[in-house]
Amino acid sequence: MKTIGLLGGMSWESTATYYRRVNELVKARLGGLHSAKIVLVSVDFHEVEGPMQEGDWDRVGASLALAARQVRAGGAQCLLLCTNTMHRVAPAIEAAIDIPFLHIAEPTARALKQAGHTRIGLLGTRATMEQAFYRDYLSSRGIEPLVPPPKDRDLVHRVIFEELCLGIVTEASRAEFRRVMADLAARGAQAIVLGCTEISLLVGAADSALPLFDTTELHARAAVDWALRPG
Ligand code: GLU
Repeated sequence: MKTIGLLGGMSWESTATYYRRVNELVKARLGGLHSAKIVLVSVDFHEVEGPMQEGDWDRVGASLALAARQVRAGGAQCLLLCTNTMHRVAPAIEAAIDIPFLHIAEPTARALKQAGHTRIGLLGTRATMEQAFYRDYLSSRGIEPLVPPPKDRDLVHRVIFEELCLGIVTEASRAEFRRVMADLAARGAQAIVLGCTEISLLVGAADSALPLFDTTELHARAAVDWALRPG
């Protein structure tokens, strides 16, 4: 088994899900007392979130590159960045390490293709829903992302930062997310991508008529497949 590197803390609420799922998946595959070999570096989200909201991506990239080097120095053999949004600075992180970087959207795009979905509803932070780094990653793989209208993008972004990243889960926000997902379905989406690692804390399969593709779960599975692959 190879050692999985997790760069987390963005937010720690979802990093906890990664830690649990990676261990559960290794246990399911190997049985008994087996657990995952993990190096986790968890940043102070406050320090990263400020420059991110200001659009100072160079500063975000520099601090996450430093954290990625710490993961590498701890003995990790691959790196997962446990947030969709921060993949905006994936090139800076990849340039700082000499181990494989497992991009969060890669297993998501693969799973969508396997299921035959080419037009999807994308939920995430404003950056993820609006900027090229994420949308282009999907469209270059033949997947067309639909996003909610501006008012609903504001709502989704606000719920992520003011509720889910703080561990707050409310029925009111769940109802809003259900409505936003139903609108995307009405506009022709064939599936919903939960393109933020905290959204699965709020909604699950029962909240949408469309299949949900949870990036946290797909990323964790990809890591375990990679760590247990022989060679
Ligand atoms: N965890 C979130 C994501 O997957 C949002 C927090 C962040 O800005 O990293 O995008």
